[in-house]
Amino acid sequence: MSSRPLPRAILFDLDDTLIRAYAQPAEAWTRLLTRFAVPLAAPDGAAIERLRAAVMEEARAFWSDSEAAARWRLDIPGARRLSLRRALARLGRPDEGLADQVADAFTDMRREEYRLYPDALATVDALRAAGVRLALITNGAAEPQRAKVERFDLVARFDHIQIEGEFGAGKPEHRVYVHALERLGVAPGEAWMVGDNPEWEVAAPQRLGMAGIFYDPDRQGLPAGATHIAPDRTIHRLADLIGG
Ligand SMILES: [Mg+2]
Repeated sequence: MSSRPLPRAILFDLDDTLIRAYAQPAEAWTRLLTRFAVPLAAPDGAAIERLRAAVMEEARAFWSDSEAAARWRLDIPGARRLSLRRALARLGRPDEGLADQVADAFTDMRREEYRLYPDALATVDALRAAGVRLALITNGAAEPQRAKVERFDLVARFDHIQIEGEFGAGKPEHRVYVHALERLGVAPGEAWMVGDNPEWEVAAPQRLGMAGIFYDPDRQGLPAGATHIAPDRTIHRLADLIGG
């Protein structure tokens, strides 16, 4: 494969792009709910599965309202509590105390399991060495997102880090990208945005004249509802950015 010229700047998403954070929720919920099988009175796999389906259904309903989602992504632990409370109520055994305990355990488990994608740091370092200006643009609250950036040694690797909770606006608002481009000193046509969310990291940047690169590490393709979006490129490994 012939190598492609690199752009002057690349904007990276954080969650489920540089670090694995929220991927594979069904597997994670099953594992967590199994730990609480006794208090949840879920004696077998079928009972756990009913709980998992109810929790994920409530979460989907919750996050599909884009206005509510924009508020709640600044309080993901709170959103999880609400999804759990609604799921238990729907199954006919409301228990807010237990719901909150299970939801908080899920939040802790997810946090413990955050991992950099194996080629993330090497790719970022290679791009830096090649002279590409780099920004990290992440939605979410200031405290947990800042903690991730520090935990994974990302601060010094980026020319600009922009967290929704600190900046005051999140993707896909255009001013988010415009501000980052200004800070990097590049025009939209000189920049790529890379991430796993087709609306936030492909469609919105493309509307501004940037290239939108879809990161699809699990080879799931574009999610339902995003099939109208046409990434400039799809990559399955971050290292593909430098590998041609
Ligand atoms: Mg993401």
